[in-house]
Amino acid sequence: MQFDVVVIGSGPGGYVAAIRCAQLGMKTALVEKYDTFGGTCLNVGCIPSKALLDSSEHYHNATHTFTTHGIDIKGAVNVNLPQMIARKDEVVKQTTEGIVYLMKKNKISTYKGVGSFKDKNTIKITKSDGSAEDITSKNIIIATGSKPTELPFIKIDKERIITSTEALKMKEIPKNLILIGGGVIGLELGSVYARLGSKVTVIEYMDGIIPTMDKALGKELQKSLSKIGFEFHFSHKVTGASVKGSEVTVSAETMDGKKVDFKGDYCLVAVGRKAYTDGLALEAAGLKADDRGKIPVNAHLQTATPNIYAIGDVVAGAMLAHKAEEEGVMVAETLAGQKPHINYNLIPGVVYTWPEVAGVGQTEEQLKAAGKAYKAGSFPFKALGRARASMDTDGFVKVLADKTTDEILGVHIIGARAADMIAAAVTAMEYRASAEDVSRMSHAHPTYMEAVKEACLAATENRALHI
Ligand code: FAD
Ligand code: NAD
Repeated sequence: MQFDVVVIGSGPGGYVAAIRCAQLGMKTALVEKYDTFGGTCLNVGCIPSKALLDSSEHYHNATHTFTTHGIDIKGAVNVNLPQMIARKDEVVKQTTEGIVYLMKKNKISTYKGVGSFKDKNTIKITKSDGSAEDITSKNIIIATGSKPTELPFIKIDKERIITSTEALKMKEIPKNLILIGGGVIGLELGSVYARLGSKVTVIEYMDGIIPTMDKALGKELQKSLSKIGFEFHFSHKVTGASVKGSEVTVSAETMDGKKVDFKGDYCLVAVGRKAYTDGLALEAAGLKADDRGKIPVNAHLQTATPNIYAIGDVVAGAMLAHKAEEEGVMVAETLAGQKPHINYNLIPGVVYTWPEVAGVGQTEEQLKAAGKAYKAGSFPFKALGRARASMDTDGFVKVLADKTTDEILGVHIIGARAADMIAAAVTAMEYRASAEDVSRMSHAHPTYMEAVKEACLAATENRALHI
């Protein structure tokens, strides 16, 4: 078979690239080694984690906030973990089947098997029964994603010492879940089990959680998570982990060399993800991964071999589904002769804990490091009528704006529905709005978004209205 474009990997980068290529009239094929389409995001990432976060949040509310809302439950409220996991599986099934529908609708040829390069235009597809078939293409897009990073001194047995994939299909609720890494995966999946009753112990190398986001967000989130059973140990370097029966011992060292052991019944290793290129035979196409395992690309996401592009987690940048999608669209449009671009500064980052955390643009730490003159305005959720009505008073909105021009440079939110609210900040910043522009726009009352308007008022002239 001869194609205009073959995409290897069906995650949010790959399947979106394939759809956009087909929309633009290219004869397109998609190759996926797993049984289902959708990659990490749909199968073992974004979607299943959010399904469990939603279920566990219902349980948490039933046991913690219903009484205050005036809802008395007669009898015990119990967690049915197998049903919770089964519902999550059903959500994943529906979502991955949706990709099959989209491939058919867009007349994209699909192949199940491991794709590897024979040369720069030929992909060999090796199926699970060992048989193989070759397809050729003018252009190829590599979208093979990432896998969890492992620590060389810890053996992941997938029973007691687990990655996010196993944490999404637990058979019991951990009594004491030890998290190595206080990043996004640890805090989201830790939240699921903390809400279901686990004690969650976070061991983090840095001096705070979600260290790459604006520091104020991590500090506030730490307070909220402490209320639901999280315990934090910062500036600890994990040195090993062992399992004896059902007990896991994680050993760590403080910065001043003190050795500490943590004991639990499960340990989730969530110390980042690494690009995945195993089995691709990159060298046959004249390509080589860099020393972090990523495929080097230029500003058009083109590799050193001009007809081959790479997108998503397998290239540099944020390892996020929406970043992978934008890159898929950009490559498809480039191949069609268009001149697309991505504003990488405006890719939002979100953590789906409760309260949710979301940020876009520059953090206060980045502005300070760059010596940029800026002003900051904040507004707390507790001063918001909408937040009091729903009992979601933790958190704040922080707006950072250019000291001279008032252009918004960063928006950082922790609070109810922050994940959805950040889109408004992206829109404003894409159009290079000033804090005053946003503060003069009518925001429906009562809404959580009013906190953004108030933070903009605070940043513009320190004149928030409701505090
Ligand atoms: P992937 O989704 O990893 O897809 C790559 C695909 O390529 C896989 O299906 C793989 O089987 C296939 N493949 C690899 N090699 C070959 C080969 N040789 N031949 C054929 N197929 C191959 N991001 C967010 O933006 N929001 C979230 O809420 C979020 N939550 C997450 C939660 C968890 C627990 C995890 C683990 C990740 C989460 N992420 C989230 C990150 C997100 O999943 C990734 O950034 C995203 O999936 C990257 O997309 P991708 O298309 O680059 O690669
Ligand atoms: P991460 O990079 O978010 O966090 C890893 C944490 O582990 C960091 O805080 C790091 O300092 C710490 N760490 C590293 N080595 C350590 C050690 N030896 N001991 C103790 N701590 C150590 O990585 P993650 O949480 O594994 O997530 C992986 C990727 O998946 C992220 O890049 C993220 O973008 C993506 N993801 C996104 C979402 C979302 O968008 N909501 C959700 C889940 C995952």
